[in-house]
Amino acid sequence: MTDKTLGQLVIVATPLGNLGDLSPRALQLLASADAVFCEDTRHSRTLFSANNISPSGRLFALHEHNEAEQSGEVIARIARGETVVLISDAGTPGISDPGTRVVAAVAAAGQVVTTAPGPSAVIAALSVAGIDTERFVMEGFVPRKAGERLARYEEWAKEHRTIVFYESPQRLQATLTELAQHFANRQVCVARELTKLHEELIRGSVAEVAAIVAGREILGEIVVVLAGAGAAPPVDDEVVEACLRDRLNSGDSTKDAATYAAGLYGVSQRVAYELALAIRNTL
Ligand code: SAM
Repeated sequence: MTDKTLGQLVIVATPLGNLGDLSPRALQLLASADAVFCEDTRHSRTLFSANNISPSGRLFALHEHNEAEQSGEVIARIARGETVVLISDAGTPGISDPGTRVVAAVAAAGQVVTTAPGPSAVIAALSVAGIDTERFVMEGFVPRKAGERLARYEEWAKEHRTIVFYESPQRLQATLTELAQHFANRQVCVARELTKLHEELIRGSVAEVAAIVAGREILGEIVVVLAGAGAAPPVDDEVVEACLRDRLNSGDSTKDAATYAAGLYGVSQRVAYELALAIRNTL
C-alpha cells in the first residue's frame, strides 16, 4: 500500500544484467508505486514481466529529451501524495543517465526524494578492479574527437586518483592503444559484461591489456578502471608469492595458481604465471 499522506520520489537502482540483483525493496517499490518513470518503457516492461509485476498503465518515459517537462508531471503527482519511482535502463538513475534534473526540481519544490540504492556499473567495476579505490574520479565516456581525447590524456597524466570511464566495445582497442602510448606501465582493469554470462575482467599494465585485447572481438558493456599517476602496485610481490606457494602446495597447476592469485590481487596473469613457474621450480 502506498502512503497517500506524503508523496515522494524514489530513485531505484535496477540490475546491470543479472536479474537476481534487484533488491527486495526495489521490487516492492516497482510493484506498489503509483507511477514509474523510466528511460525506455519497452525496456522496463521486460524488467516488470521478469519479476511478474504488472505495469498496469504506471510506466512513463523520462529521458534526456523530455526530463524538463516530465519533472513538472512528477512534482504534480508527488503533490497529490503519490509515490513516484524513477529507474533507468540499468544501474542507478542519474549516474550517466537521466535523473539529475528531476531530482533537483523535486528537491527545489520542497518535496521528498529518497533512494533504494543498488547496482551501478562504476562502483561494480571499481570493486573488482583491484586498483586503489581510496580516491577516484569518474570520467563518463571518453570523448570521440581526437583533440579532446588528447586533452583528456594530458589531464590524466597529472591525475593521482584512480580514473574510471565507460567505453564502447567498438572503441576499446583503439582507446587502449592510445592509453598505452601515454600510460604503458599503469595498472588497468577492463571490466566487461559485469554480472552477466560473459563477465570478464582483464587486468594488467596498460601495455599488457592493450596487447591482450588487440585482435580480439570485443562485445558487450565495458567499464575501464585506470590507476592514477604514481599509484603504488596493488600488493607486494611477497604477498602474491606466498599465495602462489600455498596454492601450488595444495595441488593447483601453475596456471590455476596464477589465475587465482591474479584474480585475488589484481596483478597481471602473465606476471602471476611467471612467478608461479619460478616457485614451482623450487618446490
Ligand atoms: N546509470 C548506469 C549505472 O549506474 O550503472 C550507467 C549508465 S551508462 C549510460 C551505461 C554504461 O555503463 C555502459 O555503456 C557501460 O559502459 C556501463 N555498463 C552498464 N552495464 C554494464 C555491465 N554489466 N558491465 C560493464 N559495464 C556496464
